[in-house]
Amino acid sequence: MKSILEGRPALEKEVGQIAEVAGYLWQNGWAERNGGNITVNITELIDDEIRSMPALSEVKAIGDTMPHLKGNYFYCKGTGKRMRDLARRPMENGSIIRILDDCANYVIIADNLVQPTSELPSHLAVHNRIIEKGSNYKATVHTHPIELVAMSHNQAFMGKDVLTRILWSMIPETKAFCPLGLGIAPYALPGSVDLAKATLKELEEYDVVLWEKHGVFAKGLDVMDAFDQIDVLSKSAKIYLDAKCMGFEPDGMTEEQMNEMTEVFHLPR
Ligand SMILES: [Zn+2]
Repeated sequence: MKSILEGRPALEKEVGQIAEVAGYLWQNGWAERNGGNITVNITELIDDEIRSMPALSEVKAIGDTMPHLKGNYFYCKGTGKRMRDLARRPMENGSIIRILDDCANYVIIADNLVQPTSELPSHLAVHNRIIEKGSNYKATVHTHPIELVAMSHNQAFMGKDVLTRILWSMIPETKAFCPLGLGIAPYALPGSVDLAKATLKELEEYDVVLWEKHGVFAKGLDVMDAFDQIDVLSKSAKIYLDAKCMGFEPDGMTEEQMNEMTEVFHLPR
């Protein structure tokens, strides 16, 4: 069967970037088994021929109404699929879906009948909010970065912006490339409404949210942007842990050094 990517270089490039990031998640040890999710809004890459493509699936309920997603298209990782497989074969381990005009249902249109992630409603809720705000973000990523999850097991780090300040102070680039810092969502059952609500709330203020004892959820301009922000935060967490493993509490950059960074690079305060 002909892939939807054939003859569509822009869409092929976008899906290629999703596959590349899926590979990084696996290589970093952040995506054991079928862990993690990627959902990307690809509506701007959709042509009239795709718009008239018949559905491969029956009409499926999202589980909620998403008024801003009418006629939008998404690439979604498949439920139970592995990031390491998606890295090599993105269209066999994920699918492209169309949100129907009622904003409450969707159909799968390509390439195969791969059922999207069970986390689809919470990812779509974030995309719905992104569009409502008129923001340019296109990608959401959920993954399990080892060091950040380890740090989330200590309540002392779970206060507002406590971890943000520690991570920013480990290496100057972290604040430069993740200027909003890291939001915190208290432990909640995976896939629960509580977790989705807490994530939505934190994403009003942050691009990356740490889910206590679980992982992170990030939004980005594209999938690489979302990955990069998780990666820089994770790098800082590794430096912190390496210092602790050597037997000392890392000094961290001083307040003066942090302020200098903020001034010189015009970062938000
Ligand atoms: Zn997870």
